[in-house]
Amino acid sequence: MTLDFDKIVTKTVKGAKYVADKAAKTATVAFDYTKNQLDRAAIRDQIKETYQELGKLCYSEVTGTADAKAEMRDCKEKLDELFCALKEAEKAVKPLSYKVCDFCNAHNSKDSSFCSKCGEKL
Ligand SMILES: [Zn+2]
Repeated sequence: MTLDFDKIVTKTVKGAKYVADKAAKTATVAFDYTKNQLDRAAIRDQIKETYQELGKLCYSEVTGTADAKAEMRDCKEKLDELFCALKEAEKAVKPLSYKVCDFCNAHNSKDSSFCSKCGEKL
């Protein structure tokens, strides 16, 4: 009797640990994805700002109000770096490794066409 009870406890603990591990893994993937999305948004913002700066410098160069060639070259360097960083971030994008069922919210493998829990088309 005692042995059976121990077995049940061990099984339950193992089961709970499995569920917890799985949930943690899923959360990490989703978190990485969100973080990368934010990183890319920040880089795009910087690119936009640098283009604006370059535009202003170009205007003062054309109108002859200032010699902005050196600063324009700095902007070009900065843009090259930013585009490089954006490319790296895009390469690192990890798409969600599962499909969520719209009907029952179950997580299904990426390549499944139907929900394994309720049979709904994914
Ligand atoms: Zn479902």
